[in-house]
Amino acid sequence: MLVLKFGGTSVGSVENFRKVAEIVRNTRGDKIVVLSAMSGVTNTLVQITDLLEQGQSENALELINGLNQKYLDVARELLDSDEAYYKAQVVLKKHHQTLLTMTSEEFNSDQEKIVLAQGELVSTNLFQLYLEDIEEDSVLLSALDFMSIDKHGEPKTQVIRERLGKILSNYQSSIFITQGFICRNANLQIDNLKRGGSDYSASLIGAAVGAEQIQIWTDIDGMHNNDPRYVDSTFSVSEMSFAEAAELAYFGAKILHPQSIIPAQENNIPVLLLNTFKPDSKGTLIHNKASVRKIRAIAAKDNITAIKIKSYRMLMAYGFLKKVFEVFEAHKTSIDMITTSEVAVSLTIDNTEKLDVITNDLQGFGNIEVDTDLSIICIAGDIAQNKKGITSAIFEGLKDVPIRMISYGGSNYNLSFLVKTSDKIAVLNLLNESLFPELAAAHA
Ligand code: ADP
Ligand code: ASP
Ligand code: MG
Repeated sequence: MLVLKFGGTSVGSVENFRKVAEIVRNTRGDKIVVLSAMSGVTNTLVQITDLLEQGQSENALELINGLNQKYLDVARELLDSDEAYYKAQVVLKKHHQTLLTMTSEEFNSDQEKIVLAQGELVSTNLFQLYLEDIEEDSVLLSALDFMSIDKHGEPKTQVIRERLGKILSNYQSSIFITQGFICRNANLQIDNLKRGGSDYSASLIGAAVGAEQIQIWTDIDGMHNNDPRYVDSTFSVSEMSFAEAAELAYFGAKILHPQSIIPAQENNIPVLLLNTFKPDSKGTLIHNKASVRKIRAIAAKDNITAIKIKSYRMLMAYGFLKKVFEVFEAHKTSIDMITTSEVAVSLTIDNTEKLDVITNDLQGFGNIEVDTDLSIICIAGDIAQNKKGITSAIFEGLKDVPIRMISYGGSNYNLSFLVKTSDKIAVLNLLNESLFPELAAAHA
């Protein structure tokens, strides 16, 4: 079994739906096709929920009707037969109705999740009708029947495996289609795996069925050595290890959802990143046999806040860090980076929801400083075995940039440091030159 996940751009238009169908048809063997919402749709659904929350139902209605019209236009152009178009109209009416009822009811967070789920539900329905229209046999599965998370938002992998296995055993088909992103939570309500979560769905599904490979089809030819949104001369990296990919995804490489590599890694399922618009290009293979490479790629994660706790009580004291960590644990806030000196601890968080209570609780430990608008720059590669020379190459390139924190040696695959977000683009470009000079030239 293969898992093929197509992101928003890949199903963003009639033409692209056709491209996806072509790729699915040309892929041999049994497969589960995981689709995102059409590009821009989840953003529109977020806007709709914001408007409904603010009681602006008139404006929300305008967006809801606009979305419905867009879907109808896509369906009319995509589907040749009147029968398929009629079926699409029935499906779209149901989704339109679901959104319309939200405008007249009191809006709460459960409804917000229902609204956000509509994008994937529609794209998968349209795709399945298209396959039917071109006489390609397929089965549409609802992710809501098997994709399950617990009360902490963590996937229930055993439940997913059992349910999906049982559902698949009911059908004889070589093409299954299902939604990325959406799931049911511990209360069995509709929920999601956070923005960009379709990659995570694909990986969880791949792990659940013991897939041979998980293919992530997107709008770029694999993982690049640097963020192509900010750096011009980037190139596709042909292979990397799970650990490197996991670090890059976690530290901001948008091509992959932060947690999406973990299920594949745990089950040793290779992940192939491919380009829907250049299906023949090699892409990036993420596996456990990747050759050793000094520096593989760079990524950046924004919206980082640093907290510094200065305390002379730390001097020679044991148990101090434990108490600090307990504050973060109590407020369910995870720490990304940490550095210590004898009299101070600096750490970073990206979720600032509980920042006020956290700083309040930390007051008792010493003097607290909070710094915002920071970015973590992550350099991934086989860094431990090649320590000699690497750090000097990195810091020589950055000699004019103030660096707030450095984390090195925590894992063998990552060196990260903290800079002001306003310096991020300059830093990514400087590192591109200092760490990949020959390669950047060769691939330009
Ligand atoms: P999809 O909608 O298919 O999930 P995303 O927009 O989530 O696609 O991810 C693909 C985008 O990720 C690319 O278009 C690119 O701009 C961005 N990106 C950021 N960092 C990287 C990187 N290191 N390599 C490739 N793409 C990256
Ligand atoms: N549609 C969702 C989003 O835009 C999930 C995804 O595309 O991965 O975040
Ligand atoms: Mg994505």
